[in-house]
Amino acid sequence: MEGVVSVGEFVTQNQQRFQDELFRLLEIPSVSTDPERKGEVVRCAGEVARQMGQAGLQKVQVTETGGHPLVYGEWLGAAGQPTVLIYGHYDVQPEDPVDLWTSPPFTPTIRDGKVFARGATDDKGQFIAHIKAIEALMKSEGKLPVNVKVVIEGEEEIGSRHLAPFLEKNREMLQADVLVVSDSAMFAPGKPSIVYGLRGLAYVQVDIKGADSDLHSGVFGGAVPNPGFELCKLVAQLKDDQERITVPGFYDKVIDLTPQERADYARLPFDAEEFRKELNVPGLSGEVGWTPLEQRSGRPTLEINGMLCGWTGPGAKTVLPNKAMVKISCRLVPNQDPEEIAQMLADHIKKLCPPTVECQVTSLHGGKPWLTPRQHPALDCANRAVEAVFGEQALFVREGGSIPIVVDFQTILGLPGLLVGFGLNTENLHAPDEHFDLGNYQAGIRLSVELLRQLSSYQKP
Ligand SMILES: [Zn+2]
Repeated sequence: MEGVVSVGEFVTQNQQRFQDELFRLLEIPSVSTDPERKGEVVRCAGEVARQMGQAGLQKVQVTETGGHPLVYGEWLGAAGQPTVLIYGHYDVQPEDPVDLWTSPPFTPTIRDGKVFARGATDDKGQFIAHIKAIEALMKSEGKLPVNVKVVIEGEEEIGSRHLAPFLEKNREMLQADVLVVSDSAMFAPGKPSIVYGLRGLAYVQVDIKGADSDLHSGVFGGAVPNPGFELCKLVAQLKDDQERITVPGFYDKVIDLTPQERADYARLPFDAEEFRKELNVPGLSGEVGWTPLEQRSGRPTLEINGMLCGWTGPGAKTVLPNKAMVKISCRLVPNQDPEEIAQMLADHIKKLCPPTVECQVTSLHGGKPWLTPRQHPALDCANRAVEAVFGEQALFVREGGSIPIVVDFQTILGLPGLLVGFGLNTENLHAPDEHFDLGNYQAGIRLSVELLRQLSSYQKP
């Protein structure tokens, strides 16, 4: 096998076949939320397993989880080398509304160098790029530069319910040194990006209650407290005039952005005025002292997600409402803890609430923030891989949202992670006309080859 063609030549020679095999995955409507598609989901798992086996991965198995199956495979022939765990998902979002698709969602169609199909960028095109990279290495060099374990699940779009239990149960089998996930986007077209941080979440609902029922605002107004008004006063005190959150202890565990991270942020192609115009808002706001990009992903936030009080129908109704409700969420950064923050928030809100009304705070939802520290050696490996393939430095990005599975891999298996996305946020994921740039598919395969090479010199910090 060895030395027949180089890896790069192999990727070039097999470009068409790699594309055809991606299309075979895209043709299968593996919609995990639809019970009627259960058979299709299983069929897709089978096709993933087939391609993994063809790539040269060993012990490939379609594993029952209690929900949709998960596909596992490994290659552990690089004695003494690090082990890379690659994660992806083969399930997809529903195709609705189907009339808004230009071509049928499960008939992969090429237009403008892009393939249009449900799951193209999220996540079939991205995870299969790694499998093709493994195949290219195996078939040209007969081996991989590192040990590899691959976990491709079928329930990401419905909350990955069985993934954490699978990780817990198979800790031993899944032991690795670093996690690689390609289920994210490049910061901008042609700008390969490594995501190394995600925000967490603490979500509470606040209910304020006054009298036992709504009252006539003429007869009772003036003497009876108005829950709506009390709620507004309370909420208005949660931030100061610098847009800093006033909850005592809120910032205690925040790891401030390092000078290197702030320099990374400054390198990102972003224009605040363009951003403002795009959103068509009269002005931007945010915590004083931080740039909009830093505010959106490197700093914690507190937002009102919804409010409810009194008469909100058409016309006037002179009512003194007896209750008011607000939903508030905080995006958290490392090392804030969602339960601690929810508790601090509840304590503070109760303290602010006057004794003339009743106040109840309920925690609804939480998630931990995630970070692979910017100076972590895995990030250097990824950067060298990007440089080798694209001839320029990677962009290092923190994202404002959450990806709970990445936290699971970190907490359960102790893995630092690299989110190396080949997709673009403009590729209509979860929407009609989802697509994936076929140039980025090829680049993704080459980047994955190089990443595996670079990770062979990875050493635990
Ligand atoms: Zn996804």
